[in-house]
Amino acid sequence: MAAVPNRGWCRWPTADRPRPGGKILEVSSTAENYDIVVIGGGPGGYAAALYGASAGLNIALVEKAKLGGTCLHVGCIPAKELLETASVVRHVAGAKEFGVDVGPPALDLTVTQARKQRIIDNLTKGLAGLLKGRKVTVYDGVGILRGDRQVNVSGGESGSVDLTADQVILAAGSVPRTLPGFDVDGRIVMSSDELLAIDQLPAKTVVIGGGAIGLEFASMLADLGSQVTVLEAADKILPGCDADVAKLIERAFKKRGITIRTGVAVSGHSPGGTGTTVSFGDGETLDTGVVVVSIGRRPFADLLDLSGTGVVVDERGFVIVDQFGLTAAPGVYAVGDITNTPQLAHIGFAEGMLAIKHLLGEEPLPIDYQTVPWCIYTHPEIAYAGHSEGSAREAGFDIVVSKHRFMGNGRAMIVGETDGMVKVVAERQPDGTGGRILGVHMVGPWVTEQLGQGYMAVNWEATVDEVAAFIQPHPTMSELFGESALALTGRSLHG
Ligand code: FAD
Repeated sequence: MAAVPNRGWCRWPTADRPRPGGKILEVSSTAENYDIVVIGGGPGGYAAALYGASAGLNIALVEKAKLGGTCLHVGCIPAKELLETASVVRHVAGAKEFGVDVGPPALDLTVTQARKQRIIDNLTKGLAGLLKGRKVTVYDGVGILRGDRQVNVSGGESGSVDLTADQVILAAGSVPRTLPGFDVDGRIVMSSDELLAIDQLPAKTVVIGGGAIGLEFASMLADLGSQVTVLEAADKILPGCDADVAKLIERAFKKRGITIRTGVAVSGHSPGGTGTTVSFGDGETLDTGVVVVSIGRRPFADLLDLSGTGVVVDERGFVIVDQFGLTAAPGVYAVGDITNTPQLAHIGFAEGMLAIKHLLGEEPLPIDYQTVPWCIYTHPEIAYAGHSEGSAREAGFDIVVSKHRFMGNGRAMIVGETDGMVKVVAERQPDGTGGRILGVHMVGPWVTEQLGQGYMAVNWEATVDEVAAFIQPHPTMSELFGESALALTGRSLHG
């Protein structure tokens, strides 16, 4: 697809500005004109707006609900806040081991929810301030894409406004997928949206779906005191994760009393009393207070009205884009969860910035989705980047693998969390030692904060020799990554 030919285009007076394809747009005299109109104020959309504004572009951002999108209001931030509360409960419950006797923890979810909301409000205010500071014009309402890069805004506080732009960026995100037979009522059957707002803990919970979000919920609810069963239709949990990682998590969850059933599809539920009975597998049933449906998210193009715009969606509703986020319609990009790329906030950020660089004609490198970082905030945590052992073999690499367990790490013993490991997958060299690092997989305490080094190693195509030469501070958990790389050089220190 053609990039904008002249880098200075965005500075030109609007009337003279060449449009992609050389066409001068006829606009109504009441339309407001921008270099870029972004539809959707979640991570993908606001990253594009902030980054574009910092490059001097005149940008409008249209948001129908709250700035920050799923991530800030019903995703990453509230989920991690509740997981942090769960971690506090766990630590208080285990305090006696450290000689600190505080009695059993008592949970008041209304206080937790208020804390969660304060964090969300602060971040939302901060985001609005950033957008204002960069002179991004925010429209409150539903953005509808008209042909030829025109956008109508309506139904919100901004009233009905027509906008025109040289480029439009679609960032309308995603919503929870629903499951036939499990209509969300917010009381017994919940999606992630409702679960994140609970102020009472269910005594028993069934989580349908053993993916990242389902397992985070299972981990959080179990720590808070609910009896949790995860029902997964596939034959394994955590698709995309290294098999050793999934095995470790299954074992750790079992130790904590969480039941995981794989290969069992749910068929329906029958409410009664204060809960419901879930039917699954081969005629099995399970009584529960709450069912959390966590089977993924679908792209949300519903309100954009893409018909007749030239933007093409696939059979599942994802907007089809090229490697820079450009759709089939000239001058229209799409970023974030609405496209079929990993549904992660940081991927939205990266895609938003990529679209801006591309439309400025900067010839950026496309994102390599095989090596992006993944973090899952269960207990123990999971973090990885690059090839798993299985995917490396499938891709035809001749590999060597090292695994080091946290049970031998001093800092992990000190904090009292020794479940987990670091696994490094590297190309095999002719002498049998490791060469280029292909993947780094971590399970254990604080690994979401430790992945940085592994992510960089994979993306810089570092070799195990190069990584092993770095000194890891002692005592830290990051020593385990250093040890894992060192072991692949053919010599090791601690194990
Ligand atoms: P969204 O965040 O969904 O934002 C889209 C925005 O567009 C919304 O605000 C919506 O109101 C608006 N919109 C839609 N249509 C229109 C329209 N026509 N006009 C105007 N506005 C419109 N990701 C991580 O990276 N780390 C995590 O730890 C993590 N945890 C998660 C936990 C949960 C429970 C969930 C549900 C998700 C989590 N995610 C996490 C995923 C992350 O939230 C999403 O990948 C991210 O929010 C996607 O960003 P987006 O900008 O594409 O879309």
